[in-house]
Amino acid sequence: MKNPDYLNQSVDSLAGVGAQTARRLEKLGIRIIQDLIFHLPHRYEDRTRIYPIGSLAAGMTVLICGKVEFTDILSRGRKSLICRVSDGTGFISIKFFHFAGAQHTLLKPGTMISCFSEVRQGFAGLEMVHPDYAILSKPDSCITETCLTPVYPLTEGVKQATLRKAIKQALRLCSEENQLLADWIPEAVLKQYRYPSLSEALQTLHAPDESVSIEALQNGSVPALKRLAFEELLAHHLSLRKTRNKIRVWQAPEFISDKTATDHFIRSLRFRLTDAQQRVMAEIEADCRRPQPMMRLIQGDVGSGKTVVSAYAALLALTAGYQVAVMAPTELLAEQHFRNFSAWFENFQTHVGFLTGQLKSSQRKDVLESLADGSTGIVIGTHALFQESVNFHRLGLIIIDEQHRFGVHQRLALREKGQQDNIRPHQLVMTATPIPRTLAMLQYSDLDISIIDELPPGRKPVVTSIIPSERRADVVQRINSWVDKKRQAYWVCTLIEESEALQCEAAEKTAQLLTETLPAVRVSLIHGRMKAVEKEAIMRAFKNHQIDLLVATTVIEVGVDVPNAGLMIIENPERLGLSQLHQLRGRVGRGEGDSYCLLMYQSPLSDTARHRLGILRDSNDGFVIAEKDLQLRGPGEVMGTRQTGQMHFKIADLARDSDLLNDIQQTGDRFFKDSPHAIQPLCDRWLGTSTEYSEV
Ligand code: ADP
Ligand code: MG
Repeated sequence: MKNPDYLNQSVDSLAGVGAQTARRLEKLGIRIIQDLIFHLPHRYEDRTRIYPIGSLAAGMTVLICGKVEFTDILSRGRKSLICRVSDGTGFISIKFFHFAGAQHTLLKPGTMISCFSEVRQGFAGLEMVHPDYAILSKPDSCITETCLTPVYPLTEGVKQATLRKAIKQALRLCSEENQLLADWIPEAVLKQYRYPSLSEALQTLHAPDESVSIEALQNGSVPALKRLAFEELLAHHLSLRKTRNKIRVWQAPEFISDKTATDHFIRSLRFRLTDAQQRVMAEIEADCRRPQPMMRLIQGDVGSGKTVVSAYAALLALTAGYQVAVMAPTELLAEQHFRNFSAWFENFQTHVGFLTGQLKSSQRKDVLESLADGSTGIVIGTHALFQESVNFHRLGLIIIDEQHRFGVHQRLALREKGQQDNIRPHQLVMTATPIPRTLAMLQYSDLDISIIDELPPGRKPVVTSIIPSERRADVVQRINSWVDKKRQAYWVCTLIEESEALQCEAAEKTAQLLTETLPAVRVSLIHGRMKAVEKEAIMRAFKNHQIDLLVATTVIEVGVDVPNAGLMIIENPERLGLSQLHQLRGRVGRGEGDSYCLLMYQSPLSDTARHRLGILRDSNDGFVIAEKDLQLRGPGEVMGTRQTGQMHFKIADLARDSDLLNDIQQTGDRFFKDSPHAIQPLCDRWLGTSTEYSEV
């Protein structure tokens, strides 16, 4: 008799899954039978029909069936076993680089075989390399499948066939005991979007029948796929909101603002705060008056003045008798903040401390002591602030700059660090990556969002022009006269994303060339493969004007202020997303003088590319650009890999499924209102054990 709770049984209760396989499957997050059912194919193969060899073209992945005409072992070059197979319509070469002697005998002329693989263009016509093949006993015994073959993500030591067999069993159990796999999406929602039921959807994705095409599965238009992607995105959204609700019941210190101090702070600034800055400060002030931890994200374009807003929050904590920790992603940014905070808090009877991994141990000891006894009110630093045995006297506020480098887990872990008794510190995070509202709802649904949508007055927009690379010589001359005027410049090399190594190589070459053509200019290079200390040293030298022209890959530091660098050349901008280009451009235009960005493209430029670069030329507003980028290229591009890297989806694809995002929030509200009991099981199903981070 079957255990009714079989979906929660360990996978090793299935035939063909031993203890060892079960252990290996854990790496894929698969422990129980239900996990198998939600382990979805990442692609499909079509073995439902046999293709005539004469109809093949390179790039197709197909099943063929034919007779071996001859077999030979070639030892010129890399040793290989080659068979020529024909079916009367044409012939193809089958190649093996790893083979046993027995294969040579088995594949003797006259043998009928079926092969499945990608077709490639070889020297002597089309070929298949290491296909899946089977020897056929009779000419017409080639077996075709009735549905597309699912291809699952694997882990070391587990074969595709093993996984397919296990999942098939799990699905069979599931269809026999349909009622056990709860469908948490309410009927009304399914109706509204015309989604299939859960078990139908799963069945379709694991074993698509002839009504479903590979193309529809790839472009995501199959309703079964849409439904599950929706459910998965919803689960992520709910999980973050759950975290946020949990935090709401925690206790935090109440900062009642002291008007004398805040007035004094604002008066002592050398500039007038913008309306947007004042609005966000008021939002923060309201948060901090409540006895629950603030969890606020400040989004604002580069240069919109986020730092001073965070300093205002620090002031609220200080005057209430609490300490503040400010964390930056790099040493250099930490130093920059340290200088700013030190100046702003000069007359506030507190000590501003600095803590990074590079401190000498005696200095470090002093900082640690002053944090523990409370004599340091504000400490600025890098990760080192939280990684080690740092003890605060009374930590009340954590400020994190350039938020996108930290994930949900780290946000929560940080909060834990500052916990004392039952009191947890407030948290304020800042990011210079504007994200459209729909994406923010998914990515940041554990945070409240404040937006600084106004630049301080007097900022001149960066003048952006689009130039073909044929005019490179002019551009190089322009650098010469720019440097003559004692100004500095960036030269950014871009290359196809996948290869960082190639990108660095290209930057090295460019730096060398520019050094040769511009003897009067001090040229230096910075790229992603350098050690962090090397990068910091170069950025520092650039900041101190010991370098005139900095050649860089796209990984140059975020947020570093070098006001004298007012010219940026971006090579091959057509390869990057608009938001990323806008981020890069944000490094210039930080000073008083005019600033320029030259987008130097490779001709010919497609109409779409010209249109995209035009958007960048015509706007300096990160939010406008991000919205347009979302429409044109999809969310993956807007958030950049660094950010999307924080959310791992089994089947949802933010670029493909962005149309779903609008409805997620609404459906999420509905869950909290009507079916709160469904939230946890839904999160468990899609996020597995990682939902436990909400307990950190
Ligand atoms: P970001 O938002 O990119 O972090 P910063 O906080 O570094 O920007 O501010 C950029 C520069 O603008 C700093 O030199 C800062 O002192 C200055 N600044 C901030 N707010 C104002 C303002 N309201 N008026 C003029 N300058 C300002
Ligand atoms: Mg900043």
